[in-house]
Amino acid sequence: MAGGIRLDLDGRPVAPLKICMIGAGGFIGSHLCEALMWETHHTVIAIDVSGDKIEHLLKEGSPWSDRISFHAFNIRHDSRLETFIRVADLTINLAAICTPADYNTRPLDTIHSNFVDALPVVRMCADYNKRLIHFSTCEVYGKTLANFLPRDSLARQDPRYFVLKEDQTPYIYGPVELQRWSYACAKQLIERVIYGESMENGLQFTIVRPFNWIGPRMDFIPGIDGPSDGVPRVLACFSTNLLRGEPLKLVDGGRSQRTFVYIKDAIKAVMLMIENPERANGHIFNVGNPKNEATIRELAEMMVDVYSRVSGEPIPETPMLDISSQAFYGEGYDDSDRRIPDMVIIQRQLGWEPQTPLPDLLEITLKHQYLTYAAAVKASMAAERAD
Ligand code: NAD
Ligand code: UDP
Repeated sequence: MAGGIRLDLDGRPVAPLKICMIGAGGFIGSHLCEALMWETHHTVIAIDVSGDKIEHLLKEGSPWSDRISFHAFNIRHDSRLETFIRVADLTINLAAICTPADYNTRPLDTIHSNFVDALPVVRMCADYNKRLIHFSTCEVYGKTLANFLPRDSLARQDPRYFVLKEDQTPYIYGPVELQRWSYACAKQLIERVIYGESMENGLQFTIVRPFNWIGPRMDFIPGIDGPSDGVPRVLACFSTNLLRGEPLKLVDGGRSQRTFVYIKDAIKAVMLMIENPERANGHIFNVGNPKNEATIRELAEMMVDVYSRVSGEPIPETPMLDISSQAFYGEGYDDSDRRIPDMVIIQRQLGWEPQTPLPDLLEITLKHQYLTYAAAVKASMAAERAD
C-alpha cells in the first residue's frame, strides 16, 4: 500500500505529507507510526524521550526507512523542536503525562507536561502557519450530570445526563484539594488556547479526545519494562496482576464505568483526520466506542476469564479484591464515573465507526501480554523469591 495513490473521503488524491510527531514513542504514537509507515506514503519526524516502542520501525533496510527518522529529546529543553515544526506540513502532539497515578501525586509535573510544555507547540504552529492535531482527553468532561442526581431518579437513565457531547456537555470537576483534576484542567486550558489561536490568529487545528484506547504496547509492566513501583493505567495494572497470578485490585469496588476502544480502530480515525484536513480542521472529536461499556469490575471479570483461556492457567481462587482509592492512589484521588462518547460529529465529518467488540480486543491484547511478558515475569518472580 505504501507509495500507492491514496484518496481522501471526497475522492481527491492525498499528497505526501511531512509529519512532526511529538510523543511518537508512546502507546498511541507507536501504532500511528506503524499505520503511517505500512499503509501510506507520508514521512514522519518522530520525537520522544524514548523510542523503544518504535524500534521495529527504525531498522535500516526496511521499505519505509527513508520515511521515518527518530529524534530522542525532551521537547521542554530542545531547540530542534522549532526546526522540525517549521519544516513539517503537520504537527501531531501526543506528549503528555497521562497516568492517573501521577495526577494527584505529581500535579505540577502533570500540569507542566499537559499545558506549559504544549503551549510553545501551539504557538509555533500558529506562527509558522502549520496545521496541528492535538491530543486532549475525554477526562476534560470530568464527572457526568447523572452522577449528581438522586440514586432513585429516573433522569439517571436519560442520555442527556451522561452522554458526552463535544459542543454541549459542561465540564464537572472536584475541588482543588482533589488533585486528580490537575490533568483535566491542564488539557482543558490548552484546548481553549488552541481554540483562541484559531479564532484570533487563524491556526488550523484538530483536537482529539480519546476515550480509553487500549491494546498491545499500552504503558508498561512494573519491574519488567518500567519502574517496579510504577502504577500504569488499568489495562497494564490488571495485566501485571494476571501475569503474576495475583488478585486484580478493584479501586473503590470497581464501580466506575468506561467505554474501551481498540487502538487499531482508533488509529483509523486519526488517519482520516490526517488525510481529510478540510473535514477535520476546526473540530474537536470524541474518539471512543460507546458499545464497549463496562464497569471496572466487569472489565476485571472478563480479563480474568480471557487470560485463563489464552495462558492455559487456571483461574485463581481469589481473582479480585477491593481496595480503597486512598490506599491505591493516595490523597487527592477522585474519579470519572462514566464516559460514553457522543459519536455524531465524528460520524458526520469523517464517517468513522469503531468495529472491535470488547471481548475480541481483550483476547488480542492479552495474547500479546502473555507472549511478550509471561516468561520475564516468571523469571523476575523466581529472582524475588531467591533474594
Ligand atoms: P504514552 O504515555 O504512551 O505516550 C506519551 C509519550 O509522550 C511517551 O512516549 C513520552 O515519553 C512522550 N513524552 C512525554 N513528555 C515528553 C517530552 N517533554 N518530550 C518528549 N516526549 C515526551 O500515552 P498515550 O496513551 O500514547 O497518550 C498519547 C496522548 O493521548 C496523550 O496526550 C494523552 O493525554 C492522550 N490520551 C490518551 C488516552 C488513551 O486512551 N491512551 C486517553 C486520553 C488521552
Ligand atoms: N483501576 C482499578 N484498578 C487498577 C487500576 C485502575 O480499579 O489496578 C480503576 C481506576 O480507579 C479507574 C479505572 O480503573 O476507575 C480506569 O483507570 P485508568 O488508570 O485506566 O484511567 P482513567 O480511565 O481513569 O483515565
